[in-house]
Amino acid sequence: MGDAEKPRRVGGIEEVKVKTLPQIMCPRCNRVMVVERKRTETEKSGLFGTKKINYIDVKCPDCGSRWSEKIEEKKGCFIATATYGSPMSDQVESLRKFRDYRLSGYIGKHFVNFYYTISPPIARLVARSEKLRRVTRSLLKPLLNLVRSMGH
Ligand SMILES: [Zn+2]
Repeated sequence: MGDAEKPRRVGGIEEVKVKTLPQIMCPRCNRVMVVERKRTETEKSGLFGTKKINYIDVKCPDCGSRWSEKIEEKKGCFIATATYGSPMSDQVESLRKFRDYRLSGYIGKHFVNFYYTISPPIARLVARSEKLRRVTRSLLKPLLNLVRSMGH
């Protein structure tokens, strides 16, 4: 299958917990393909073992063509999530928007990757300790104020 024949992905926003699956258009019939199943594969990642990648297998209702589409989950900030208790909290939402909009350049991306490598172990510690949550809350507060003053 050539590149021109690849199914087209339309829409679909993946958020933590609230997920909208993208619609996949059949390259031949230009119709929305039907989701046959969702599956998760485990891949080796970084220093800390594995990450899970979700796929949906779709099929065209007209011509029967099949396709697998990778579904990437947007991650909330681990430390912020552990600090504020929920990936859907207002504070985490603000920080995540800031990350997506302001840190999308070359250096920003490297920083974000670095952050995702170091933060899960820190987040686990923070989640276990109210004392540490108080510390991270006070550390994150100036950043949060800055982010909000920029309109996120
Ligand atoms: Zn088709």
